[in-house]
Amino acid sequence: MGTTETLAISAVNHWINGKPVAATSGRSGIVTNPATGAVIAQVGFASEEDVNLAVATAKTAALDWRTTPLSRRAEVMFRLRNLIVEHREQLAEIISHENGKTRADALGEVARGLENVEFACGVPNMLKGGYSEQASKGVDVYQIRQPLGVVAGITPFNFPAMVPLWMLSNAIACGNAFILKPSEKVPSSSVFLAELAKEAGVPDGVLTLVQGDKVAVNRLLEHPEIKAISFVGSTPVARYIYETATRNGKRVQALGGAKNHMLVLPDADIAMAADAAVSAGYGAAGERCMAISVVLAVGNVADPLIEAIRERVRCIKVGPGNEPSNEMGPLISREHRDRVASYLDAALAEGATLPVDGRLDPATTGDGYFLGPSLIDNARPGMRCYDHEIFGPVLSVVRVDTYAEALRLINENPFGNGTAIFTQNGGAARQFQFDVEVGMVGINVPIPVPVSYYSFGGWKSSLFGDLHMYGPEGVQFYTRSKVVTSRWPNPGASKVDLGFPQVR
Ligand code: NAD
Repeated sequence: MGTTETLAISAVNHWINGKPVAATSGRSGIVTNPATGAVIAQVGFASEEDVNLAVATAKTAALDWRTTPLSRRAEVMFRLRNLIVEHREQLAEIISHENGKTRADALGEVARGLENVEFACGVPNMLKGGYSEQASKGVDVYQIRQPLGVVAGITPFNFPAMVPLWMLSNAIACGNAFILKPSEKVPSSSVFLAELAKEAGVPDGVLTLVQGDKVAVNRLLEHPEIKAISFVGSTPVARYIYETATRNGKRVQALGGAKNHMLVLPDADIAMAADAAVSAGYGAAGERCMAISVVLAVGNVADPLIEAIRERVRCIKVGPGNEPSNEMGPLISREHRDRVASYLDAALAEGATLPVDGRLDPATTGDGYFLGPSLIDNARPGMRCYDHEIFGPVLSVVRVDTYAEALRLINENPFGNGTAIFTQNGGAARQFQFDVEVGMVGINVPIPVPVSYYSFGGWKSSLFGDLHMYGPEGVQFYTRSKVVTSRWPNPGASKVDLGFPQVR
C-alpha cells in the first residue's frame, strides 16, 4: 500500500434520496492515486440493507418521475448538460486523480459522456410512438413506450464518468429511477455527477448511488423491484451478471471485454497506420475496451510498419496524468501493472520477440503504477499475449500472408467488440465491413466508438444481451412498448361475437 497523500483521506459515501449516506456494512475499500500509490479516499461498501433502502427510495421517486412531462424531463437533461460543461475541468481532475489517465484524456472522456446527455435531451422525440388510424373499421391501433420503473447499472474503472453517463442519461430521461454501482476503484466521479444532477433538478431518488463490491451487485441482481440491469466490465463478470439477472427475470445488457484487431493491408499508408496503432494501442495506457491490442500486418507491410511504430513509441512521454506534457499515465493498480508486465516475459518464453520493452526502472517511477508502451512482434494464437485480454499498454503484431488469414483470426476470436482496417482500397474495406464478425468497425479509424445517436456494443463474448448501449437501442432498453387497440362505436351497434377478432 502507498503512503497517504494528504492528511485527510476523503470518505466516499452512497447517494440515496438526494444526499450522501454512509454505508452500514462496516466494510470499505481504499482508493489510490495510481500515479503515486498514495491512498486518497476510503469508500464504504454497501450492505444488502443499504441496497434495499436505495431501491425503496428509488421506487417511490420513479412513480412520480414517470408522471413528469417529457419536456420537463428534457429541460432537466439540458441543465445537467450545461452543468457538466461548466464543471468539466473539475470532473476531469477527479477522473485523472483516481484512474490515472491524463487530464486531456479525461476531458475527452467527459466530452464523449456529454454526448449521451445531449442525446437524452431529445428523448421526447425518441419516445414518439406509432399510430395507425382505421386498422379495422372504426378501430385505431397505437404504440407507446413506457419506463420500466427502477433500473440499475454497474460500471468499470476505466471510464469513471463516461460509462455512467452512457447509462444514466437515457435511463432517467425515459422516466426511470436509476441506481448506479460505480467501480469501487474510482467512485468519486459518480458522486460529483450525482451532485450536478441534483443541481440540474433531477428529483431526489431518481439518481441513486450505492458504493461497493459484489455484495451490492448481487443484491441488485436479485432485488425484485429492479427491472433492468446494464453492466460494463470484464467478460467473466458480464457473463455472470447476464446469467444471474436474467434468471431473476430482469432485462439485461452486459458488455464485456475485448481483443481488438487492427488489420493493415499492404496498400495502407504506413505512417497513418502507425500513428493509428500507437494512438489506439497506448492511449489511456491501453485501458480502453476499444483499444487496439493486436495489429495484423498483411504481407510485406510488417517490417516497415513495426519500424514506424517503434519510432513513435520512443517519443511517448509517460508520467503522472496531471502534468500536461505527459501523454500516457499509470495503470489502475500495482497488481494490474505487474500482471500486464508478466505478458512480456510470457511472450518471450513462448517464442515471440519484444522490439520495445516498456518496463521502467522503479527508481524513476516511485510508487506509481507505471509501465511504458511495449511492442511484441511475431505473436501468434496460442500465446498468452494473443489469447488474453491484456488491458494495458502492450501491442502485439501478428504477421499474416493474406487478408483471408487475417479475417479468419478476427472471426475466430471469442471477443467481437471493435476492429479496424487500414487500406486505401474502398472495395477491400467494404468487403471487410461485410465479412467481419465484430460489433463496431473502423475503416481507417482505429477507435470506432459510435457517436451517441448510434448505439455501442460488441458481438460474441463482448456483449451478453440483445440491445446495445446508449443511443436508440438504449431508449429501447429502458422502456417497454405497449400497443393499444381502440374503438368508439355507437353503443347501439354493439353485439356479442364469439369469433376471433379480424379485420373487417
Ligand atoms: P470488472 O469486471 O472487474 O468490474 C466491473 C464492475 O463489476 C465493477 O463495478 C465491479 O465492482 C463489479 N464486479 C467485479 N467483480 C465482480 C463479481 N465477482 N461479482 C459482481 N460484481 C463484480 O471490470 P474492470 O476491471 O472494472 O474494467 C475493465 C474491464 O471492463 C475490461 O475487461 C474491459 O474490456 C471492460 N470494459 C468493457 C467495455 C465495453 O464497452 N465492452 C467498456 C469498458 C470496459
